[in-house]
Parts: sequence; structure tokens; C-alpha cells
Amino acid sequence: MTMDQTTETQKTRLPLYSDAANGNGQGQSAADGDIDIEAELRAFEEAERERLGIKTARRQWADSMLTSEMKREERDKVTLLINGLTDAQMFLVEGALRGVGYNVKYFGMVDNAGLQVGKEFGNRGQCNPTYFTVGGLVKHLIDLRDKDGMSTEDIIKNYVYLTAGACGPCRFGMYVTEYRKALRDAGFDGFRIFFFQQQGGLSQGTGEETGIDMNPEFFIAIVKALVCGDVVNALAYRIRPYEVTPGATDEAKEEVKRILYEALQTKKNIFKALYKARKVFEGVEVDKLRPRAKTSIIGEFWAMTTEGDGNYQLQKFLQTEGGECDIQLTTAWLLYNIWEVARDTRERKHLRGQDGGAYGLHGMEGMDVAKRLATMRLAEQGLRLGFQAFAQPIGLFDYHLPDMDLVAKVAEEYYSNDLRGGEGHMEVGKLIVNSVHAKAHITVSVKPFGCMPSSGVSDGVQSLVTARFPGTIFCAVETSGDGATNFYSRVQMYMFKARILAEEELKRAYVDAGVTEEEVRAFLAKNPKYGNPLHLAPHKVAGSAANLVYEVAPLIKKTLAERTADRARSAAGAVKALVESTPAKVAAAREVFSRPETMEQLREDVSLVSDLVRGKMKDRFGPLVEKLAVKAYFENNRETRTVTREAEPIAAE
Ligand code: SF4
Repeated sequence: MTMDQTTETQKTRLPLYSDAANGNGQGQSAADGDIDIEAELRAFEEAERERLGIKTARRQWADSMLTSEMKREERDKVTLLINGLTDAQMFLVEGALRGVGYNVKYFGMVDNAGLQVGKEFGNRGQCNPTYFTVGGLVKHLIDLRDKDGMSTEDIIKNYVYLTAGACGPCRFGMYVTEYRKALRDAGFDGFRIFFFQQQGGLSQGTGEETGIDMNPEFFIAIVKALVCGDVVNALAYRIRPYEVTPGATDEAKEEVKRILYEALQTKKNIFKALYKARKVFEGVEVDKLRPRAKTSIIGEFWAMTTEGDGNYQLQKFLQTEGGECDIQLTTAWLLYNIWEVARDTRERKHLRGQDGGAYGLHGMEGMDVAKRLATMRLAEQGLRLGFQAFAQPIGLFDYHLPDMDLVAKVAEEYYSNDLRGGEGHMEVGKLIVNSVHAKAHITVSVKPFGCMPSSGVSDGVQSLVTARFPGTIFCAVETSGDGATNFYSRVQMYMFKARILAEEELKRAYVDAGVTEEEVRAFLAKNPKYGNPLHLAPHKVAGSAANLVYEVAPLIKKTLAERTADRARSAAGAVKALVESTPAKVAAAREVFSRPETMEQLREDVSLVSDLVRGKMKDRFGPLVEKLAVKAYFENNRETRTVTREAEPIAAE
């Protein structure tokens, strides 16, 4: 800056009150006693602009990616890109959405190369799932451009990204801006991203011009595919540790996926397809007497669900280390969302007058709140029933979805039920249930690097839980994208202990049941139904093999006549016990029905049923489906909600 400029600046400074009072004001005499402050400000601004060289009219930058839209006439030309959950689920979602008329492409599980791209183009300080998911998309677009030779313009015109996720009020709230920032910086400014609620939910998604109709058909197609994916995954994880020919389960799973994909795409009977899939899984030869450590995987939703580099392919590694994975299903996550709505409604019902938040109860009458609660109960039962309707035909027997109330109750003492983010209290509750009910030999908790909710739980709260419930081995691991060796070696140490536990449990089972391995093997050879890959022995201990020994031992040791006599005795005993306990049960039932909350619940249910009978089904369930769809992915994401509903460009310097 030169001396002249400095002098000029000093001349154009704003006049001070004291200048005016002393007669030193520029262009203003003390006699006037007053100054035109607006004119002074304008002059000052002009002079400053001149000095800084920004005199020309400036264009404010506005985020052009906030108002993504896809017109109906584009539907045939545009491809929806998807990924995010398990491989089977995303593959089936592709089929299901094709079935309702979209061009869809599942572009695969995100790998470490995607993570690198995420780190390159994303902001600092994000959690691992953010880097993986954002980077995965950007990398795919870069590949389309650099490897497949598509022009950037064509990519932006011909592809959109449809995404959903669920983590909670944490960095998940920043995903939306992260996607935009990374895409823009990577040269894809204007690329369209659609979040499920971007269209304002179901009700606004059916306009004539809308390219993606987020209507019930759309959501039902997705939910169907997700539940299909859930049952396929759960069954494959049950069978794989016992397969005699390595890779046989994966082969069967691929065929099953193709069968279900075809049924979803062509809208054929899905239950028939599931039954066909069952035959394929039944063809896998298994040895069910192998001691395998039942390994429950819990943790942050994305990290425990993904099957790629995002968690170092944890499930696969656990299997090679002698584990039988008990994975968390997306259906359980949906149940958690229903539980959340019900809980929040109960907690807020006395605040109705003041509760004007986005999910508040403002304007709802007493019975509306009651009906919402009743609807939640119905939704939960519907989801559980729907899950079983998919699980039974494919042969996923005796799969128990978690009891959300139980999980919340046991966790409450350690982690407030009102804390959300990550898996909330579920992570704590599941560990306790695993321990108390001998559901697993080991619980592995996966938290992504940089995840505050999950770190607080697995490093903090769970230490207290494991001290109070020492029944299960607990292994908390962190995924960061690098440091795979540390990750594997930590898991390996814990899996060694768990394997020993499983082996000892199996040996104990033979001794307790009074049979030898040879006897059990001979029995299974003669009675293949017990050695069937789909057969699940009743739960007594954590290990599947030990449970099978307990199940078949009485059949080996006793003659048919003895077993028949046993059954008769046990039936008579049950009847006797029932008769004896009836007075107590009647008293307990009377006590339950005399409680005011039971009566209230009954009134709510009756009111809901009468609504349904009067044909208000659509009114009742339309908003529910919308709410759950939104809640499942974005309810706690205030930023996303605000951005997408108001869709106002953000001006920034
Ligand atoms: S729960 Fe953790 S990992 Fe998941 S989005 Fe939130 S901060 Fe990230």
C-alpha cells in the first residue's frame, strides 16, 4: 500500500460524533450539529470498494445443487445409482426398483480406493462412513469419466444418486453437504443427489412432473428388497461356517440372489421365489458338529452392516477365525425407528400445546396421540409378521428379532434411552442381552474412526457393562481404513478365547448329554433332517453344535417307546402346571387389566381399529409410512431436513 492510498483512506473514514461536535466532520460543519449517516456510509463504502479493487458488481455464489430435480420425461434416460447397505440388499433393491420402472445401477461395495477419494475431496474431521460413502460415489463418477470415457456433462445429465442412510444426530447431518462439496471439488458440480425426503415425503412425491415418485409402491419395493436381503444374509451366515465345500454357501447365495432379483424385477410371487431359494440353500452340504464361536456383531450401523473395506470385511475374517456371525438386520433397525417414534410420542404427549417442533405433537388432540401410539404398535407387529412371512419360506427358522422394549429396559441404567446417534442405547442393550441370555460367546463392537456416539458407548459405557455382566467376551474395534493389521490382530486375540469357549462348551455338551461324537454323527447320518443346513436346534447354550447335541442326545439314548412315554409325561406335566398356575395367572391378568395404562392402551387400540373399519386406513398409514421412511433415515438430521424442505440457496462469499 502506498502513502497516497493511506492518505486517501484516512480522508474517507467515517465521521465520528466528536468530529461533528468539534467542527472537524468531513464536508459537515459543527454548526449543522447533525450528519447524514446514510450518505456517509455510502460514500465510505464506495471509497473502500475503490481501494480494495472490488468496485464492479459481484455475483453471489449460490449452491446450485440444492434444488436437484428430475423430470418425469427424464426417467427413461436417467440411471439411479445406489449403494450403501449389504451387497445382497443393494442388488435386490436394484431389481425391485427396476420392477417399478426405473433404470437403476448398484455400483458395488465401497472399497479403500473410495475412502482415499473421500479423504481427498471431503472436509477434514469426518467420520469413516462419511468418507467411504461420499468417496465411493465420487470415485464411481471419476471412473465413468476417466475409464469409460464419458463426458462430465453426460454423467451429470444421465445419472443421479439415490441414497438413504441412518446414523443419528451426529455427522450424519453433514452427509448432504459433504456429497455436494466433494462432487463439486471433483468436477461434478450440478450432479443430482436425491435423499428420500428430498421430495417432501410420499405426499409431495407424486406430482406430475416428478421423475422419482416416492410413493407407497416405491417404498414397498425397497422394503421388500431389504427384508429379502436380510433373510438371505442371516441364513447364509448361519450356514457358511459349517459348509463342507469351501465357497458352497457363497455359490448358493449368488443363485438365490438371482432368483429373488428376477422375482422382484418381474413382480412375480416373491414367496414362491423365496421357497425356490430355500431349495438352493438346502443343497449346501454341512457338518453341523463343528465347534464355532457364536459371534454377535454390534456397533455403529454402517460399520457393522457393510461387508467391504469399510470394516475390513469383518464378517469374512470372523468366519475364518472360527466364528459363526450373528449379524444385525436392517429390519431390526426399522423396529428401533418405530420404537423411537412411540417413545418420543409418549414422552411428548403432555407437551402438546407447546410442542411445535418438526416432529412435535402441536395441534394433535388427545386421541390423535393415542392413535399414533396404537399405530406404532400395529406397525411393529406388522413388521415382525412381515419379516417372518419372508423368513419362513426361505427356511430361516426361529429367527427372533430383538425385543426393543427389553433392549431399552436393560440398557436404561447405563445409557439413557433418550440419547440418539449411532445405535443409541441398542448397542448397550444388545451386549447385556447377549450375556444374560447366553446368545453369543463373543460380542464384537465395531465403531468407525471419528464416530462420537459409538466411541462413547463402546469405549466408555461398555466397560462398565462388561464388568457387571462378565458372561460374554467383549471386543471393541475401530475401523479407520488404514491399520488393518492392528484391527485383525486384536480381533484374532479375542476370537482365540471365544473359540476355546465354544470348544469347551461342545465337550461339556457331550458329557452332560451322555453321548459321544461318533454316536451323534451316526444319528445324523440316519436322520438327515437334523443335519439339514436349515435346521436350527433349540437354544440352550450359545454354540449351535452344542445345542444340536443337547437336542439329539435324548433321541439317541432312548427307544421310541421311551420317548413317547417321555412326551406323554411332559404333556401331562405341562397340563398340571397350567392348572396349578391358572389362579395366579387369572389374578395377574386381573391386576394388569385394572391398571389405568392398560385401559388407556386398549382404548387407543379400539380407536385405531374402529378407524380402520371406517376406511381410514390410508389416512392412518399414509403419514405413518412417510414418517417412518423419513425417520428411518433422516429424522434426526436437522440440517438435511431444513435444506431439503426449504430448498433455499445458501449464498456465501
Ligand atoms: S453414528 Fe458415527 S459413524 Fe455414523 S454417521 Fe454418526 S458420527 Fe458418523
